[in-house]
Amino acid sequence: MPYPHLFSPLNLGPITVPNRILMGSMHTGLEEARGGFTRLASFYRTRANGEVGLIVTGGISPNRRGWLAPFGAKLTGSSEVRKHRIITDAVHGSGGRIAMQILHAGRYGYHPFVVAPSRLKSPISLFKPFTLSQRGIRSTIADFAHTAALAQEAGYDGIEVMGSEGYLINQFTVPRTNKRADEWGGDIHGRIRFPIEIIKAIRQKVGADFLIIYRLSMLDLVEEGNSWDEVVIQARAVQAAGVNVINTGIGWHEARVPTIASVVPRGAYSWVTARMKKEIDIPLIAVNRINTPEVAEDILANGEADMVSMARPLLADPNLPQKARMGKSTSINTCIACNQACLDHIFERKEASCLVNPAACREEEFAIEPTIVRKKILVVGAGPAGCAAAVTAAERGHEVHMYERAESIGGQFNLAMRVPGKADYAETIRYYQQRMEETGVILHLSTSVSIDILQKGQWQEVIIAAGVRPRQPQIPGMDHPKVLYYDEVLRGDRMPGNQVVIIGAGGIGVDMATFLIGQSNGQDHYLDEWGVDASVANRGGLQRPIIVPSKRQISICFRSAGKFGASLGKTTGWVHRMHLKKHGVETCGQVRYIRIDDEGLHTEVKGQPRLFPADHIVICAGQVEQNEWVEIAREAGLNVHVVGGARIAGELDAKRAIEEGTRVGMAV
Ligand code: NAP
Ligand code: SF4
Repeated sequence: MPYPHLFSPLNLGPITVPNRILMGSMHTGLEEARGGFTRLASFYRTRANGEVGLIVTGGISPNRRGWLAPFGAKLTGSSEVRKHRIITDAVHGSGGRIAMQILHAGRYGYHPFVVAPSRLKSPISLFKPFTLSQRGIRSTIADFAHTAALAQEAGYDGIEVMGSEGYLINQFTVPRTNKRADEWGGDIHGRIRFPIEIIKAIRQKVGADFLIIYRLSMLDLVEEGNSWDEVVIQARAVQAAGVNVINTGIGWHEARVPTIASVVPRGAYSWVTARMKKEIDIPLIAVNRINTPEVAEDILANGEADMVSMARPLLADPNLPQKARMGKSTSINTCIACNQACLDHIFERKEASCLVNPAACREEEFAIEPTIVRKKILVVGAGPAGCAAAVTAAERGHEVHMYERAESIGGQFNLAMRVPGKADYAETIRYYQQRMEETGVILHLSTSVSIDILQKGQWQEVIIAAGVRPRQPQIPGMDHPKVLYYDEVLRGDRMPGNQVVIIGAGGIGVDMATFLIGQSNGQDHYLDEWGVDASVANRGGLQRPIIVPSKRQISICFRSAGKFGASLGKTTGWVHRMHLKKHGVETCGQVRYIRIDDEGLHTEVKGQPRLFPADHIVICAGQVEQNEWVEIAREAGLNVHVVGGARIAGELDAKRAIEEGTRVGMAV
């Protein structure tokens, strides 16, 4: 057995799980979609088939005031019980186990009826909450218990009470948001009364044989959060109130510390759960950036936790547990923590999916069907779009030949993985390499496609996925030796000096600045830079950040008048912006480029002349399509499909590239 700790059963009281992998709660957007429960059933069934030990659903509200957004998912009546039955039947039919998370958003709700312990608006919310009256508190406790009973009736194996991430219960437990003078506020014993009463009420309703998990905020990462001693008092109290398992919660949504983005090292918070293990007896679950079976096994083998929670990694690959158990972990499609198709979608009010696995939440739509007619297919270019097309077509039974000019597959991911915090992009390349071997793609590396290959190959389908090349802006002096392009810098072919100007403020300009700041992605560095107090001596687990200054002076220029970094992801843009600010990177918009010479970059900024002295100017001004072969292949009478950057370079990202590649692989 490759991962003995990960694959040992665990008795959680009411149920025993066959392995230690918990699928953490994720809102998918299907909860509110038309026909969403049938799709959710398919989504969770796929994960149960993939051998997840225990699934926890996305958060379901116990009443209307607890909605995350208007008409959000709630479980308060029998019609809703019937819909949840579709999910539990699907999971149990596949031999899985599933618990439903009960989440009351409190002041994080996106509607005008939000409630909270005190009338304090959150910095990330639009609506100021109403203070919950004592009667309101009592009825909310009853609503939690009622919803838990309905979840039991719907066939769930248990429930998870969401007590972290800054939602209603967490708002009660900390001084930051609980300013009440009655018995529901004051010292820690008053502040935790609300969750304790909820747990007691639930236990009374559901009896002893129903699993209750409590998600406990162990590190609030906000000012006026709880002290470690208070967190321990809460943990002991919820254990005594009848909880079977405690799941770890790290950081509020309004915290200015990234806790799951790619800049967070793998398993960065298992030490918090490990600390709690010394304090309580019931099983504990570790969370955050546990994206491979190796990381999970280490945490369990070190005795830091009894289970590990993986949420996004099971969007990326529903078969992660099964592959790990069978010793096939190189076949796992690893989550790269980009947030681009999961959390960013949810924050944009779209359905979640996954950048590396477009089938996530669309299992039926992306079901791979074997081909009836085996065709000979040429794929030009082995970037993410070409790889996705090739493995999908080959998996269906086609004969697929792939030509790639470079020595290795991966395209732009070979560059992205060199940026600090993006090392996981290498996992996607590894995954495609492995899938190509498994599906029998015939790979021709270091080989440019030629007219001869096109004409003589007897191809029945040609997929052009040749990607992009950097755009060359029309600025006088572009041939000056100070001018470098982002690809040559990221490859390490040419390194800029200490004074650098970057032209372009898109994702790649920001990545370039991060690369040039050039610091490690290690655990200590991460905790220092973002001000996380690993000694937990301070309230909320915060301390003053320790910044190691960059040896480079970096400026980023762009022409438009908009906000810097506007094109970055909803949930990660702020992380990039703060990182650059912490390292003194200047950002300058409304720039008109005049010329480049020995002095540097001459510009006009808002109409005023300005020289940016520079050792080097790095061009990150977007890309253009590499589509030369499209017309040639069409003229040769071939059946041509164009995907990814070769089709349209503008607005290209890997999410579109992989989805387009997968779709064409399914269609040919
Ligand atoms: P981009 O997002 O289109 O940004 C290009 C930048 O170059 C813009 O700031 C643009 O700003 C500037 N520009 C465009 N034409 C120019 C010209 N002729 N002369 C001078 N400046 C010009 O492209 P990218 O940064 O290359 O990124 C490519 C894709 O990769 C993006 O779609 C992005 O989503 C993706 N990506 C994402 C991330 C991420 O963190 N999520 C990271 C890397 C890449 P002005 O027009 O204002 O000058
Ligand atoms: Fe992970 Fe990115 Fe997929 Fe989200 S979209 S699950 S972060 S790989």
